[in-house]
Amino acid sequence: MSVWDDVVGQDKVVADLEAAARSARALAEQREGRADTAGATDATGSAGTAAMTHAWLVTGPPGSGRSNAARAFAAALQCTGAVPGCGECKPCRDVMSGTHPDVVRLSTERLIITMEEVKDLIGEAQRRPWTGRWRVILVEDADRMAERTTNVLLKSIEEPPPQTVWVLCTPSADDVLPTIRSRCRLVTLRVPPPQAVAELLVRRDGADPGLAERAARASQSHIGLARHLAVDPGAWERRRRLLLAPVSLRSVGDAVLAAAELVENAETEAKEATTERDARERAELLRALGMEGDTKVPPALRAQVRQLEEDQKRRAKRARTDVLDRAMTDLLSFYRDVLATQLGSDVERVNIDLAEAVDQVARTTGPEQSLARIAAIEECRARLRTNASALLAVEALMVQLRPQA
Ligand SMILES: [Zn+2]
Repeated sequence: MSVWDDVVGQDKVVADLEAAARSARALAEQREGRADTAGATDATGSAGTAAMTHAWLVTGPPGSGRSNAARAFAAALQCTGAVPGCGECKPCRDVMSGTHPDVVRLSTERLIITMEEVKDLIGEAQRRPWTGRWRVILVEDADRMAERTTNVLLKSIEEPPPQTVWVLCTPSADDVLPTIRSRCRLVTLRVPPPQAVAELLVRRDGADPGLAERAARASQSHIGLARHLAVDPGAWERRRRLLLAPVSLRSVGDAVLAAAELVENAETEAKEATTERDARERAELLRALGMEGDTKVPPALRAQVRQLEEDQKRRAKRARTDVLDRAMTDLLSFYRDVLATQLGSDVERVNIDLAEAVDQVARTTGPEQSLARIAAIEECRARLRTNASALLAVEALMVQLRPQA
């Protein structure tokens, strides 16, 4: 067992990070051996690709396991076992369970990382390690930082204390300012092979092997979504209904109804994911402000409560957008399967469980139509990311997906 076990299908990344952790250990030992000259040798002092450095940018498509990789790296840096990242020693276990005092992690569900959060992190980065060899600061969604906030971060990343390591995660290197990018060593995750994702679901989540394989394929190797499909039977059913809905539309009226249903389902799903936390946050805030239960919020404190409500509203919108975006990804996979069938391509299908529906649509339409539908889904997806009305965007899409008489 090692901390790298859950970083699936990323051999090159694991090799690079492991080498860096070894080099970091050598540096730390050197530093400890010559305590009187501490600070004279810093992590950037040694050259070579395997060498340790103070700032890392871990990129990879959604679901490829960026934060897993970052956390495993943090564990390997703190590890005191024979091989860095052994997974058995106390530091390794503490980092993996999120309780190591020298690994500070910022993962935000908000739309943006606030200036206060970044200032706190910079403060954390200035401390010396409590128990570990390094002070590791993980920022999971570094792309959610406004430019002004990023600029505050820049200096700390450029000249951190000798024992501090920054690890930023973003979907792609273009998601952070060039000034940040140029100061970080880039680590790029690829989309893991479905087989590797399936194995992980079986090993880690105890999923049924057949189901895990279908889930890995249907989610196109998005680890989180695959897990969702492999452990929640309701998720399969929702996906199936979504993909089969356009096939059975008979009229524009049907299309409008189907659009309404899709958007409504997305809202319900997003609400389920956020309601409980919203209530808890509100209760915590009221308690912090010295109010109990249902007492009326005094005018002086209303601004703070309103701020929280605004944040929650934004988060709910983001959750809904994420659900709809996933629906678009699923629809795309369906029409790509249709197109591949029409073109006689031997690419493996994503939707093996919907073979009949894919075949039927492939038989009754032509490749031009599939291309037009794929373009329509892409367009809808782009519109959903703007402030456009989700319902109107999805209605327009459903009308285009409707089988032609
Ligand atoms: Zn260890």
